[in-house]
Amino acid sequence: MKALVKTQTGPGNLELQDRADPTPGPGEVVFRVGATGICGTDLHIQDDEYVVVPPVIIGHETAGTIVAIGDGVTGLSLGDRVTAQTTISTCGSCSFCESGLLNLCPQRRWLGGHVDGGFAGYVRVPAANILLLPPHVTIEAGALTEPLACCVHGIMEVIGMHRDGWHPPFTVVSGPGPIGLLCAQVARAAGSVVIILGTGADASRFALARELGFQDLIDVTRENVADVIREHTGGLGVDVAIEAAGAPSSLDGCLSLANRRGTVLQIGLYGRPAPVSVDVLVLKEITLRGTFSSTPSSWITAIGLMGSGHVNTLPLVTQVRPLEDWSAGFDAARAKGEGKIVLTP
Ligand SMILES: [Zn+2]
Ligand SMILES: [Zn+2]
Repeated sequence: MKALVKTQTGPGNLELQDRADPTPGPGEVVFRVGATGICGTDLHIQDDEYVVVPPVIIGHETAGTIVAIGDGVTGLSLGDRVTAQTTISTCGSCSFCESGLLNLCPQRRWLGGHVDGGFAGYVRVPAANILLLPPHVTIEAGALTEPLACCVHGIMEVIGMHRDGWHPPFTVVSGPGPIGLLCAQVARAAGSVVIILGTGADASRFALARELGFQDLIDVTRENVADVIREHTGGLGVDVAIEAAGAPSSLDGCLSLANRRGTVLQIGLYGRPAPVSVDVLVLKEITLRGTFSSTPSSWITAIGLMGSGHVNTLPLVTQVRPLEDWSAGFDAARAKGEGKIVLTP
């Protein structure tokens, strides 16, 4: 099979190579990849700003069809349409493992970073990592289960929206890229009215947001955001602002927009230090929370949100390219005008 391999540490060092098709060991399955999304993390891996253990096939937002099942696996069948949780192994005994926060285990090994991932013809994973896609969710839409689970973890598990029925009346999502539009749908599913911020370069992403039913879209380069938000919220302002653009200016915007005692959730990586208005944080007693990757429970919620129609990931897939075209796909993802770009082997 063809596979996109990070061959060694250092900038670049991504190469399409021929690899042997994987076969499942006991307790494992192999699925034929139907689609694997290009994530911001993959761009950081390309730039050597995110640590992986090469040589490794990258790609962690993946879905496909089961083609081989190892000994001892029950409950899965050939032909099942599936996606795979990305945490492949953890220590199993640290406090994070014991509380279900496998994303934070210091020994965590993950798909597409330590273990061969989805930019390939086939993927081998432990059967325990497999989740079945709901019947009406296509493989391409299913490849976005991973980023959706990350958004669910941040919004519902880290800042606790929807827990005990709590949700802020209004939430701002800054950045209408794939992560932003997934966060917006999760916050809406949790009961919040969502206002999405973007720039003049986000026209097509705003169109996508409208298609997903979001009406409150603000171009921060053209409008006075504080005024418009006051108007949209009847003067209440926003208690939660989600930074999903991965840009320092967006984080600053979130800090200045959030209400006193509000929460800012940082979901994207920057790959470098970012200047932050610490005084604003102090003066308004803002809680700044980071969120990293996903937990097993957030994957189950993500599947449920897709299955129930509360979250629709398919419109977010705006480009499907053959794996051979990975380089152009990565460039397009970097240019940020698109929704999610998926590669298909
Ligand atoms: Zn990702
Ligand atoms: Zn652990």
